[in-house]
Amino acid sequence: MAAQAGVGADRAFGSISVPIYATAIYRYEAFGKHRGFDYSRSENPTRQAAEQAIADLEGGKKAAAFSSGMAAISAVMTLFRSGDHILCSDDLYGGTYRLFEQILRPYGLAFDYTDMGNPGQVAKKIGKKTRAVFVETPTNPLMKIADIREVARIARNKGILSVVDNTFMSPFLQRPLALGADVVVHSATKFLGGHNDLIGGAVITTDPELGERMHFAQKAVGAVLSPFDSWLLLRGIKTLAVRVARAQQSAEVIAAFLAAQPFVRKVFYPGLSGHHRRDLHCSQADGPGAIISFELSRESAVPIFLNALQTVLLAESLGGVESLITHPSTMTHADIPLEEQAAVGLTPLLIRLSVGIENPDDLVADIAQALRRAKGRS
Ligand code: PLP
Repeated sequence: MAAQAGVGADRAFGSISVPIYATAIYRYEAFGKHRGFDYSRSENPTRQAAEQAIADLEGGKKAAAFSSGMAAISAVMTLFRSGDHILCSDDLYGGTYRLFEQILRPYGLAFDYTDMGNPGQVAKKIGKKTRAVFVETPTNPLMKIADIREVARIARNKGILSVVDNTFMSPFLQRPLALGADVVVHSATKFLGGHNDLIGGAVITTDPELGERMHFAQKAVGAVLSPFDSWLLLRGIKTLAVRVARAQQSAEVIAAFLAAQPFVRKVFYPGLSGHHRRDLHCSQADGPGAIISFELSRESAVPIFLNALQTVLLAESLGGVESLITHPSTMTHADIPLEEQAAVGLTPLLIRLSVGIENPDDLVADIAQALRRAKGRS
């Protein structure tokens, strides 16, 4: 399905690669009559093809593509009103936390954070004003696991929405809509795009009315994915399965290597037997994925380790063909106050590795030499 993303979308000439419709507007056939396209903020054929591909992969009916993952999450938030309460995973991408706390809370939305792997606690924290649960699983960066089926079931029974950020797994490994979730969001910048060459996001749903509301958010708010980025996204999606499978295979090797290093204090990876919710993760996903977080033994070793890496690149993102490494506390999650980072267990010792598709021997050798240096010099 991924390899043939977009095939059949070009009805004019049958081109296999979807054309980049670099147009803002479409000529009306006559007064009050157009061919389904009037203005590219509302509809664009290249974007439509990318949206259809993502909807199909996630098992949804409708997808809406946005100019970033944050724009996609913002679009979902337009469903709520001042006074509404949203219950979230207690470890979230820092930008999502920043949107909730610094932009939306001042508009009167309330957010609470809880362990989504504990359904009893989730049910208790849903109050009269709660309108949605917002879940990451595995979470960024601590790889905590939510129970998608149970959380979605509780939400449905209470008449509220369940939203799952599926960025870390991609639809190749996890399909939350089939597990009962109402809405899936993505940073398409990550595994879907896969080449660190675009910023994009998507919202996918099985409910036609919700799908319409997301389409309305595209048109009314305007943060849509451009035709060129839609084309890049389609092109990236074609290799989703082989990229994720290869990266995951290498990640399993690297996680085992890290777990055997005395200088590595902890490894957070749902593929390791030591991960406390490994069984839960395996019951809802087809593999552990390609993201590994780990802690070094000494804080002073962290910058030495990161600077010593040569093949693995120090950069903020994840899910691309290149292996990337990040220090969440000062980079991706820097906008979360330090005391809140500490409260969820995010320490300055933590490092997040996104495994790419390079030769795994090269990656292990690079990490091993950087660990030796860090251990010797810190
Ligand atoms: N959700 C998760 C889990 C992420 O890791 C990110 C970005 O790192 C986002 C959402 C935001 O996506 P974007 O950077 O495309 O706006």
